[in-house]
Amino acid sequence: MMQISDRAKQLNESATLAVSARAAELKRGGTDVVGFGAGEPDFDTPQHIIEATKRALDAGHTRYAKPSSGIPEAKAAVCEKFRRDNRLDYKPDQVIVTVGAKEALFLAFSAILNPGDEVLLPCPYWVSFPEQVRLCGGEVVSIMGDEANGLRVRPEQIAQAVTPKTKVVVFNSPSNPGGFAYSPDETRAIAAALTGKDVIVFADEMYDCLRFGERRENLSFATISPEWAEKTITFNAASKSHAMTGWRVGYAAGPKPLISAMAKIQSHTTSGTATFIHHALVEALTGSQAHVEKMRTEFERRGMHMHARLMAMRGVTCVKPDGAFYCFPNVSGTFSALDVQNSGDFCKKILEVVHVAMVPGDAFGMDTHVRLSFATDMKTIDKGLDRLEKVLGRK
Ligand code: PLP
Repeated sequence: MMQISDRAKQLNESATLAVSARAAELKRGGTDVVGFGAGEPDFDTPQHIIEATKRALDAGHTRYAKPSSGIPEAKAAVCEKFRRDNRLDYKPDQVIVTVGAKEALFLAFSAILNPGDEVLLPCPYWVSFPEQVRLCGGEVVSIMGDEANGLRVRPEQIAQAVTPKTKVVVFNSPSNPGGFAYSPDETRAIAAALTGKDVIVFADEMYDCLRFGERRENLSFATISPEWAEKTITFNAASKSHAMTGWRVGYAAGPKPLISAMAKIQSHTTSGTATFIHHALVEALTGSQAHVEKMRTEFERRGMHMHARLMAMRGVTCVKPDGAFYCFPNVSGTFSALDVQNSGDFCKKILEVVHVAMVPGDAFGMDTHVRLSFATDMKTIDKGLDRLEKVLGRK
């Protein structure tokens, strides 16, 4: 019998997998399933990025990237993006290019955590955060977002959760799965609650260019003060903003010793992303950005529509999305009428009865909620919501 390591065994198999496996099975059997599960834009990668990548291949950029942490042009492009969009003044030796933001986060946890170190994780959280922390020997301390505060955690909750063992605070705005974002003032208040504490902030700003409504303005955590410039790692990727999820290219920037430690780990593990993809990143970050705004306005239109329709359904409340492409309604008010106990059973039931696929909130630490992605066209959104409304009824 093959022995699997304790490290691997501790990883969760969430209800998400069960629901998506069942949705795939129904589809294979010919059922017309409406999918709200997508965690990626439904738009195509812009043509000018594809053309630049073809040129890189034709020019022979097919050997190891040198260095694997990012060719100089890619690091310069990341610095330009941060200066232009985020008012962040990073130098190229503070930047690493990675296999999606996922690798950047994993490298950072690997480079920072010792066994028993605590990581404060506002809840709901992106699925891989707790798993990555545990894989790196850390302890997850989750802080429940306050529904009365639009699912955002309050500064005093963060301040109270810090202990001498706290090493990292994760700050993801706009949020996957929540769709909510922190305003500049709210971001400053979180920073103020942590001022003087010996912690590093992981600012996951994957959706910084996909913000809308009242919280349209993004304030990058590292710009708050010189103290935070030294104690923040900023994470981003081309994945969501440039519709490049399958290209696997992300990046991070922060204090030089940390970035160097991450690059060392990367050089012994993946050797980074493909060399021609470094060239694609240069085009994505420094070429025309027109498509980003096009996607952003379309996501805003769809998000407001989905939110209004969810709010009209019986037993459902939903925080208005401020960014990304997710609605994260609380559906616990429907549980007794549907005779279900939790988000996984809710999703299973809706999938079986009206063939609509959603992601159960338990994967994100909130078993009263479900995630619906609006990275799908308006007609499909209405088709799925019509079906959901048929089961739940209107208020
Ligand atoms: N962080 C957040 C908040 C995300 O939503 C995602 C992707 O779903 C990632 C990180 C990972 O992104 P990538 O696909 O670039 O690895």
